[in-house]
Amino acid sequence: MIDPNRVDWAKMDGLVPVVVQHYDTGEVRMLGYMNRDALDATIASGLVTFFSRSRGALWRKGETSGNLLDLVDIRLDCDRDALLVHARPRGPTCHTGTNSCFGDDAAPRLAFLAELQQVVAGRAGAPPDESYTARLVKAGLGRMAQKVGEEGVEVALSAVTGSEADMVGEAADLLYHLTVLLHARGLSLDEVGDELRRRHSKASAATA
Ligand code: AMP
Ligand code: ZN
Ligand code: ZN
Ligand code: ZN
Repeated sequence: MIDPNRVDWAKMDGLVPVVVQHYDTGEVRMLGYMNRDALDATIASGLVTFFSRSRGALWRKGETSGNLLDLVDIRLDCDRDALLVHARPRGPTCHTGTNSCFGDDAAPRLAFLAELQQVVAGRAGAPPDESYTARLVKAGLGRMAQKVGEEGVEVALSAVTGSEADMVGEAADLLYHLTVLLHARGLSLDEVGDELRRRHSKASAATA
């Protein structure tokens, strides 16, 4: 978390722009403004709070709609005149009803993997007759592991003998089943991504 004293309030006449990003998916949700009181209120409450320029008052995002933004982290930019807020939204962020003020495709393409694992976590305990994921989880770790093995082989075969669409389909099957298997072991693609990043930084250090 940042120290509010580090913000260059004087340069900005007391008001800095704030980009709000979904912590898990990277989706850009909205742009708002904070003064010192709004930043203090955000840190103290753990709920993202702006200064509304039209109302001239503090505005806790979601105070009437219920679509609050749970604070995860705040970063200050290089020249200390803009903030990046990482948050977990409790609902859509735009008052028009879209998730993001910048439209419903404001997330990076790969961000759907992050959404997928939230969906998997949500369905894992659903009634088995309503959800394939729930049935798979109920069938046990051995069955989930077997599916990953099968889908891995199908990806390999499709790479050699299939069309591009076949291979995309089999790779999607593999990633979905891998997501379920990781979930069953209390893990997620986030840990896998962290490990890949660690390896990459070691590799670049070695070649530097
Ligand atoms: P809320 O903070 O979600 O309870 O919304 C309260 C009011 O704030 C809405 O009726 C809008 O006028 C305004 N508002 C809400 N969300 C946004 C947003 N993302 N960008 C701009 N104005 C907003
Ligand atoms: Zn700046
Ligand atoms: Zn909006
Ligand atoms: Zn398959």
